[in-house]
Amino acid sequence: MAKVYLMTGTNRGEVEKLMQEAARMIGEQVGEILRMSKVWYTEPWGFKQGNIFLNQALEVRTELTPEQVLDEVQKIELELGRNRTEEAEIKRENGERYASRTMDIDIILYEDMVVESDRLKIPHPLMQEREFVLGPMCELVADMVHPVYGVTLAGLREKLAEKTEEAAGER
Ligand code: ADP
Ligand code: MG
Repeated sequence: MAKVYLMTGTNRGEVEKLMQEAARMIGEQVGEILRMSKVWYTEPWGFKQGNIFLNQALEVRTELTPEQVLDEVQKIELELGRNRTEEAEIKRENGERYASRTMDIDIILYEDMVVESDRLKIPHPLMQEREFVLGPMCELVADMVHPVYGVTLAGLREKLAEKTEEAAGER
């Protein structure tokens, strides 16, 4: 048994319903959901127009390996209508790195494991740069130490806030 932290996100379609469906399917296909953060609402960045983003962190008890968790969450993304071909087209058309998507599920942390393969990187490589990840995660495990940086999630979030303030000051 391991504890895995997942992050669900959507900004397209029936967003509230999609978040509930994703949680339900994670409970069935990944393992028992122990705790969930509230749903966070964030203005999109990385592409100009688009709908607000919903994000939620889930603490799940699982018997699956990290790779098996990735298989399952990718199946759920597909079942909830994520269409990577369509996303690639949107990205090409508007020249942006991010496209709207119906459901994105990322593995943020798996126990204190470090995974570094082509298809899977844990801890999630961008978690320390994203308030919409650290905010929900800190609701659940603010004191957890990041296995690579050796800093608590609350500490990473403080650093990010400082960096964001500095960047705003330079503008
Ligand atoms: P993103 O989540 O970065 O917006 P995608 O959801 O399309 O983009 O994921 C792209 C690829 O990232 C996936 O095909 C998956 O193999 C890989 N990946 C690497 N590490 C992780 C992780 N921790 N959680 C989820 N996907 C990951
Ligand atoms: Mg993803």
